[in-house]
Order: sequence, then structure tokens, then C-alpha cells
Amino acid sequence: MKTKNVILLLVSMVLLFSCKREEKIIRDPFIESLISQMTVEEKVGQMMQVTLDALTKGEDRYTSFEPVELDENILRDFLVKHGGGSILNTANNKARSREFWLNLINTIQTVAVNETRLGIPVIYGIDAIHGATYVAEATMFPQQIGMAATFNPTLMEEVSAIAAYETRASGKPWNFSPVLDLGSDPRWPRFWETFGEDPYLTTVMGVAMVRGYQGPNNDVTDPTRVAACLKHFYAYSIPFSGKDRTPAHLAEQELRDKHLPPFQAAIDAGALSVMLNSGIVNNISVHASKEIITDLLKTELGFRGLVVTDWLDIQNLYLRDRIARDFKEAIKISINAGVDMAMLPYRYQEFHKALVELVNEGKVSIDRIDDAVYRILSLKKALGLFENPTVNPENYPLFASEEFARKSHEAAAQSITLLSNKDNILPLNKNTRILVTGPNANSMRALNGGWSYSWQGEKTEMFTERFNTILEAFIKTGGMENIIFEPGVQYKEDGAYWEEENINIEAAVRKARNVDVILLALGENSYTEKPGDLTDLTISPNQEKLALAMAATGKPVILVINAGRPRLITSFAGKMSAILKVYLPGNFGGDALADIVYGNVNPSGRLPFTYPRYPNSLVTYIHKPSEANLLAAAGVYDYSGSVNALFNFGHGLSYSTVEYSNLSINKTNLTRNDSLIVRINVSNISGPAVEEVVKVFVSDLIASTTPDVKRLRAFEKVKLQPGEQKIVEFTLSLRDFSFINYQHKRVVEAGEFRVAVGNHNIVFNVEDDILFN
Ligand code: BGC
Repeated sequence: MKTKNVILLLVSMVLLFSCKREEKIIRDPFIESLISQMTVEEKVGQMMQVTLDALTKGEDRYTSFEPVELDENILRDFLVKHGGGSILNTANNKARSREFWLNLINTIQTVAVNETRLGIPVIYGIDAIHGATYVAEATMFPQQIGMAATFNPTLMEEVSAIAAYETRASGKPWNFSPVLDLGSDPRWPRFWETFGEDPYLTTVMGVAMVRGYQGPNNDVTDPTRVAACLKHFYAYSIPFSGKDRTPAHLAEQELRDKHLPPFQAAIDAGALSVMLNSGIVNNISVHASKEIITDLLKTELGFRGLVVTDWLDIQNLYLRDRIARDFKEAIKISINAGVDMAMLPYRYQEFHKALVELVNEGKVSIDRIDDAVYRILSLKKALGLFENPTVNPENYPLFASEEFARKSHEAAAQSITLLSNKDNILPLNKNTRILVTGPNANSMRALNGGWSYSWQGEKTEMFTERFNTILEAFIKTGGMENIIFEPGVQYKEDGAYWEEENINIEAAVRKARNVDVILLALGENSYTEKPGDLTDLTISPNQEKLALAMAATGKPVILVINAGRPRLITSFAGKMSAILKVYLPGNFGGDALADIVYGNVNPSGRLPFTYPRYPNSLVTYIHKPSEANLLAAAGVYDYSGSVNALFNFGHGLSYSTVEYSNLSINKTNLTRNDSLIVRINVSNISGPAVEEVVKVFVSDLIASTTPDVKRLRAFEKVKLQPGEQKIVEFTLSLRDFSFINYQHKRVVEAGEFRVAVGNHNIVFNVEDDILFN
């Protein structure tokens, strides 16, 4: 770094430290000074992010079979000539060794720091969404949907701290995670990247993930932390058609009541960056909306960090959405709307030329550019990149350690959810003879899901030899002599995610004759985003046939569902002796499943979404009374309706019987400054030590805007030894069960509410109408 900059950096640290203590916001003199020295060309350069493939050569992409490496000429064109600020993604859509990453980042930063006029380091971004997904040796964890099922924010924080450690240990300081979109439409191909359908669970887990990434004080100069990126702001997850990147329609009341709170909480927790929704909300492309990016996100929610586009989304304004004539007009619209950094991810020369022209023509103001650059450089500075653009590999002794592997195994075990267990068939005795069957039984790819070693996860088997599939884990625990394997149906590994081959259900039926129990592993192969679009939520016809054939053998069938979204299993669910949902549990999912099936671990996962029974009944547990109007109208006509879930949100069994008793509250009439203290006794009355998720739901019985039937407002995962009883206590403020009314205000209205825990409930009264800020 240039000497003048070093001095300014030190001054700014002292100033910012003292102002933090006084809670004042002042501009950072180091960054102000840097910006004052920059040309428009350099500023625009900082706003550009390209994918690594735009800067590399080799492997089979350009008909060369050399190992993939940086093209030094293009790299210098991007960094030195055009002042490029950021790079993302892996090379050629494949995980790389840690060594590769360290060398690569080293070369990039050396050029950026030594060969550019102001020596500004590059910020490298990556999708390390369930561990350092593109680092070959790294630890992979359950995907977010599985982490949500743990209902364990402490574990979430620990897991994401490891993901941060391993991502930074391989040179990358910026993680495009967490996803805070609500998983409320099971058709959506990124459903499994969410924390499920509930806004409160998403808020709690999202904040825990941000803390894990950024550390408890958001001090990301700490070389074991990374900057989080909240995505995808907003309403990305609820496209009307269920297909990725298609239009969503939502009322502002709904947006403010359910979709914004997780983002607001994560911003308040200090999240340093936000990625925009690639799609269209209420007929406006999010990347073109000043109302969404500047007025709502930056001004109203008070987000002072960096806003990055999603992949290609400035171009999408003219190529896909047709709201701009060409690239230049699209750039003008989105930068003026408030975009700070463009994930281009190619065509950087065109972007650079066009944005410099737009500034010179007065169509994009220099103030807007300075604001964007200020946010970008602030993030680089927060990460300590000006002092340490690269990492020292020796500082990461725990990288890919046994300790981290154990945490992944624990997380998988805590996520697995026992949905049914007829006649307590589970746990099984170690000597049980088992037929393991189904397309998910012997696949590391299916256990990990998308964003694993490659975008769609299709390269997973190249990197996971050392881990156990479900079949391998059962052989390891149950013994070779007790396990027989016949897949019955297989995924076509070089096809689309939904293609299947080698269908031989008869072979599985024959082998079932000689066993005591069938373990049937069904679900989906890996996918994400657009390639994961779906036309039929029902599980594939081959898998359905296999399930029915297994049930027809008369042997008990234990169904294991290994899928990103709840594919419908209604035609055979009732014929299964037990059902376990494993979600996308990562590299230790097979081992964790064996732990549970053989009774070494008591299951404690809970469904973070509603498992639908029918394709035309995709109603979440949060719904309006009209969805399930049980009061039949008097007279001739009947207007009753029902919500037919197969399994409810929050459902999950264990091998113990936990009894709830003595629900009590501190007061039945609450006024403005009161808190509601909820107490319940939980006892483990039979069975092994257990972890019980105690959930508090509150219903607003009458409100001026038709209320949701109930909402999760608090939960705690409680450990109970055999025979142990605990009193669990929750303190809720009135704000905790407020809602957004039709006028878009957060309120609690006087009247009756019901609090429910387990199978108990109490009605209480709020005496005042309260308007919150
Ligand atoms: C996805 C984002 C991701 C980005 C960078 C996009 O296609 O929508 O979630 O962070 O690519 O890989």
C-alpha cells in the first residue's frame, strides 16, 4: 500500500473507533481520501465484478487441456486498465484445491495492489452456502433447509463460523449467503436454500448465520471471518408460477409483515452486503427499482453496506425484461436505482465504457458513483484487505479438521426429522437384515444437493470418495452380512436432474424376500436455480412404483426422503412403517441417518415447512382463516374448507415420550409496557435423553386486517435426560406478536389473543391499541 494511504488508514481507524463508542456516523477519512484521488474510470472499475472464467484459460473450455490458470493479459486488462474491483465464482464450474485458491488469490491481489495506481485490493466473492462449497477439501454441512430443521441457532452460528473459517482459509473474504427468502412455495427450485416458510425461524437462523460469518462484533478484519451477503432482496422465493426468476406478486402488507423482518433483523445485526432479487415483483424488475433499492433497502431499512446485483441482472433488464433498449440504458437504470456493484459477470469493457459515458453525459451523477464506491471500499476496508489482501495459510490449523467434520455430523443428526414411526419400528436392532434401495441410497450428490463442488452439484462424486453414502454408512454400522443393495431406480447422472434410468423394480422386489426390513431412499437428484424448475410436485412415477412395490412385499418399509423440496408422497406414505426426512444433509448425512435408524442418536429435527398432501393444496401453516373455514355456513349451502397438510410445520417425533403440562402466563390482561411471560413444564416421561423443540404460537383472534391463524413467536430446543422435567420460560414483548395492518403500520390491537404451546393454550387480553415505529 502507498505510504500516504497507510497513514490515513491508521488515522481513520482511531477516528472510527472513537466515533463507534459515541454512536455517531462519520465518513471514513481514509476512504474519502481514496475517492478524492480516483478518476471516474477508476471509480467505475471498482463497481465491476466478473466471474473467474472471464479471466482464465486452460482445461477443456477453450479446447485446451492445460490446467486452468489465470490469463495474465486479460487479468491486467481487467484490473490495471479498467480498475476492476471484484471477482467471483470458481473456475470452470468445479471445486479446486485450497492450494489452487491460495495461489490464484495471491496472483490477483499482487497485480491489484502492486500494479494499479492506487493499489486497491480486489474483493473476491463466492457462494459458500453450506461450507466452502468450491474448496475440494472443505467441510460441507447440511443445506439451510436442514439447518432450519435443527431449530438450533447456536449450532447454526457454530456451523457458519466454520464455513467462514474455511472460506477465508482459502483466500476468499466475501460469502454470498445467507438466503433470507422465505421457503413458502414448495415448487420453487431454491426452496432448500431457505430456512423454510416461517418468518420468525428465518429471522433467528439468519441472524445466527450472519453472526457465524461475521463474528459476534462484526469484526471481519478477523481472518477467520467473512462478510455475509443477504439475498435475494426481496420476494424472490414466491414466483407466481413457482419457476425460478419469474414474476412475483405480493401485497405491501404481506411484504412488510413476513418478507422484510428477516432482512431487517440481519441488517440490524450488522450484515455487510445485500444481493438483489433477479426477478420481477409487482411488475417491476427489482434491479430497476429505486423504490426497492434506495428508498426501501438503503433509506427505510437503514442499510449502509454494499448492494450487489445478481448474475447478469443488469443485462437482464434489456435481454429478458425488455425495459431498456440496450446495455447502456440498462446500466443507467440500475445504477440510478441504487446498485453499487454489478455482477456482470462478463462484458466488463462494455460496462466500463458505458458507465463512464453516462457519468460524462450527466445521466448518472458522480454523487451516485461516489456513494457506490464508498460502500465498496468500506467493505474492503472492513475486511482488512488494505493491510492483508491475502491470508497466511499457516494461520488455519483447523482447516478440514476432524473437529469440523464432527460438527457437520452433529448438524446432520440434529436436522433429520422423524415424521412417522408406526408401532415404534425404529430404532432397529443392529442385526436386522435390511434391503437398501432407491435412487438416493448410494449417492453423495443427492446428499449434498446443488452448490456442492459445482453449481448444480453434478461433480460431487469426484470429490467425496472419502465419505459414506447412505448404503455405505449402513454397511459400516449394520455389517456387510446384514445389508443387501438393489437400487431399483437410478438417476441419470449425465442428464437433467429429474431423469432416471436402469429401472429394475423387480430385482428390488426379489431381494426383499430375504430381509427383515426395507430402507427405501427416495427424493431428488441435485439441482438449483432455473435448471431445477419443476412441472409436477409429485415424486417421480418410477419412485412411486418402487415405493408401492416395496410396500406390497409385506416387509416393513422405512422411507428416507432425501430431497430439497417436499415432493408429494401421498399415494404411499400411509403404507410406510416409518418416514424420515433427511433434507440435504451434506457429507455426513448417511452416517447421521444410520445413527438415528440404529438408535445411537435420538431424532430431534422438526419440519421447517408444511409438507403438502395434494398438489393443489400448497397452503402454509401461516394462513388466513378463510383457507380453513370450519364453521359451515348455516342453511343449505356449506362454505367450510380445510388445509390438508400431510405433515404440519414444526412436526417431528423422537424415541421418547415428552409430555407438556402446566402452561401458564404471568397476566391475562396486558397493557402497553407489559411483557408476556409464558411457562410450560416439559418432561421426558419415557425413552432415552432427548432434545425437544418447545414452540410458542400466538394467534390474534380478531384484528382489523384479517389475522393469520397462528404465528410462531418463540422456540427453544431443550435437552431432557430420561425422566427429567424442566420448566421452560419465554418472555415476549407486545411487539413480538404485532402485525402489519392494511395501512402498512406495525400494530397490536386491543382484544383477545391465544398462546399455544404443545397441546395447551390460554387466551389473554391486550387492553391498548399500540402503534410501533
Ligand atoms: C444466484 C445467486 C448467486 C450468484 C453468484 C446467481 O445465479 O442467483 O444466489 O449468489 O449466482 O454465484
